[in-house]
Parts: sequence; structure tokens; C-alpha cells
Amino acid sequence: APEIDADFYNIEAKLSADDRNLQLKVRGFLEREIKPIVNKYWLHDEFPFEIIPKLAELNVCGYVYKGYGCAGGTSLMDGIIAAEFGRIDPSIATFLGVQSGLAMGSIYMCGSEEQKNEWLPQMQRLEKIGAFGLTEPEVGSATAGGLTTTCRKTAEGWVLNGQKKWIGNSTFSDITIIWARDVDDNQVKGFIVRKDNPGFMVEKIKGKMALRIVQNGLITLTDCLVQESDRLPLANSFKDTAKVLQMTRAGVAWMAVGCARGAYENALDYTLKRKQFGKPIASFQLIQNHLVEMLSNLTAMQTLVFRLSELQDEGKLKDEHASLAKVFCTLRTRDIVSRAREVMGGNGILLEYNVARFLADAEAIYSYEGTKEINSLIVGRSITGISAFV
Ligand code: FAD
Repeated sequence: APEIDADFYNIEAKLSADDRNLQLKVRGFLEREIKPIVNKYWLHDEFPFEIIPKLAELNVCGYVYKGYGCAGGTSLMDGIIAAEFGRIDPSIATFLGVQSGLAMGSIYMCGSEEQKNEWLPQMQRLEKIGAFGLTEPEVGSATAGGLTTTCRKTAEGWVLNGQKKWIGNSTFSDITIIWARDVDDNQVKGFIVRKDNPGFMVEKIKGKMALRIVQNGLITLTDCLVQESDRLPLANSFKDTAKVLQMTRAGVAWMAVGCARGAYENALDYTLKRKQFGKPIASFQLIQNHLVEMLSNLTAMQTLVFRLSELQDEGKLKDEHASLAKVFCTLRTRDIVSRAREVMGGNGILLEYNVARFLADAEAIYSYEGTKEINSLIVGRSITGISAFV
């Protein structure tokens, strides 16, 4: 059989030699250090803390930011890296996405020089871990206008009250970016909340059937006091939060490409080896049809995210571009992982065959960072000029 080549249109040939080397270095690291351990941690719903120093050594956290110990690389390479992580394990990709994108991105885009100098270098080295708290138990899709977590300025500092649900990394993070509505001007503001802040409490969310390695928390803020120096000075309305989400949604699209690729590669390999009726199942027309459907969608996704990141690197990315990519890639990924499972028969649902995890994880990627409906409405508003959210 020919070698499995999930870069069917040779898109990666467009990468420079240095970028290609970095991609292969990341791939080698993930194959060696992450792939062998993820099924066990996924099964036990635990996070492999031993990988944090190794990830730090890989030196790809905060890859796109300029200064503060970060590489100042391109969004394209940041995407390639996210896809490599997704290809091996969407949970670890999400851990890095929260740290590098949501948490560091909030500080990089909305923080003061002092805050950036204090947090970004330590977070780049993964010595400090960050989380991003926007969603609430009763407010998921409607965060733009509906946050119920409040902040109030007092003589002692800012006082935060409310709850945040689903917050990735928050069970062990050193800081969580908390988004809250100011009771005085009704605008959304962002805060760096430290784990030992009085009034800050986190409970682990148990019983997830997707991204089980990611530790999601339910945060309760009870008269949680935050100093003015920990308020993000450039986060003054939800528009500022949305800037962070634009970048991270592009990252989720790339991660979905990786997830789809991992499932496709494993499924193709399986169909070449598995024999029924005396022949490899890959020789049956109906199986080949599944494989080609998977590859068609994967190739469309790969071309789309490549252009998406070119736009990003040209400074031309708009919210609707990121939303369209997020919707398309996570939707197609759901189809790819389900076909990957299907062509593997019963073994498709066993963790050890390395497709069941992708099948489950694709469900969470599909819903987080804005559901299909919400991201579709962002695109719909852009192409029609009509907002259809409410
Ligand atoms: P809801 O908003 O209740 O939506 C339910 C359904 O209604 C969806 O299908 C939705 O599309 C649909 N719907 C809602 N409004 C409309 C409308 N106007 N028109 C049509 N359909 C509509 N959040 C964080 O802040 N930080 C994190 O780190 C984080 N990590 C997460 C990790 C995981 C594994 C998961 C599952 C979620 C995470 N989230 C996080 C939360 C995530 O962003 C939300 O789950 C998501 O935004 C959807 O909100 P919801 O679950 O409350 O669904």
C-alpha cells in the first residue's frame, strides 16, 4: 500500500524549511511523549502533570506573541502547531489552547505593560498556568450581552460575584481571566484573578464524555476582591473579549483539522490491515467511499485554515472569517471521526485503536468557543447585515 499521506494537496510544501522542521519537531515530540500516555489519562479523567516541563522545553507556548519571551512567530505556524497537537490528542491541544491562546492572549491584547511583563514570560515557560472564565452556568451562547457575573469598584478594590462554568485548566491554574459586567457602566471588564484570592472557589466538573484529560471547573466568586492592578486596562467592553475569541476560534479550527487528520490516518491504516472475506477491508468500494469522503473534507479544511491564517498574518482577519472556519472545520470533523469509527467496526469504539477518543472529543470542540449556531449567526450577520441572534 502507498504511504499514508493526509496532506493530499501537498499544502505543507508551502512552509519554509525552518517551519517544516519545527512542525516535524513538534510531531516527533507528540508521537514520543504524548501519544503513549493519553488513552490512560483520558480513561481516568486526569491531567498528566508530568508533561508540563516537557511541553515547556518544546517552546511553542505563546508562539505568536512578540516580546515577553515569546517566539513572535506567524499565525500560520501557530495553526500548524495546533493541528499537530489535535492530531495526537485534542485534550492536550485544548490545554495548550487555553494557556497560550485564551489566557495569554487576554493579557497580551488587553493587559498593561506591567501585567504582560509579570505574567507572559512565566506563562510562556508554563511555570504559571492560566485559565479563561467567560461562560456561566446560565449564560453560554449569550455571553456578549448577558453576563451575570458582576464587578463593582470599591475603595478596597474590585469586588466580583457570580459563577463561571466549564473553565478549562481552572482546577489547577495559578490565574484565571474572569470576565464580569461592571454594575456601574454595564460594560464587560476582564480581571486576572489569582487562585489564592479570597472568595475564589473552584470545583472540578466530573462525568464528561469528551476531552476528559482537560480539567474543567465550576468557579464561584463570592465577594472576591481583586486589586485595580489586576484589572486588564484594555478590556472595557465585550468587543475586547471578542478580539481574543477571534484569534482562539481560528486556533480551534486548526485543532479540528488535526483531530480529523488523526482519525483519518488511524482509520485508513486500520482498513489496510484488517481483513474480512479474505481481503483487506480497504479493498471494498463502500469502505473506499468513506475514506474518500473523509479525505475530501479534510483537504477542504486544510486549504481553508491555511488561507485563514494567511489573512491573520496579513492583519485582515475578521470575526466572520474565524467563525466560518470554526463552524466548517468542527462540523466536518464530526463527520470524519464518525466515518473513521464506522470503518473500524467494533474496534472503533475501543480507546486502544485511537479513534474512539477523537470521536468523543470532536463533540466538545464542536460546542466550545461558540456553538455552530452562534458562529453561523456571526457569519450570517456579516453577509446579510442583519443580526439574528435574538
Ligand atoms: P447554550 O448557550 O445553552 O446553547 C444550547 C443550544 O442552544 C446550542 O445548540 C446553541 O447553539 C443553541 N442556541 C443558543 N442561542 C441560540 C440562538 N440565538 N439561535 C440559535 N441557537 C441558539 N467556556 C469558558 O469561558 N472557558 C473555557 O475554558 C471553556 N471550556 C470549555 C470546555 C468544554 C469541554 C466545553 C464543553 C465548554 C467549554 N466552555 C468554556 C463553554 C463553551 O464555550 C459553551 O459551552 C458554549 O459557548 C455554549 O454554551 P452553553 O453550553 O451554555 O450552551
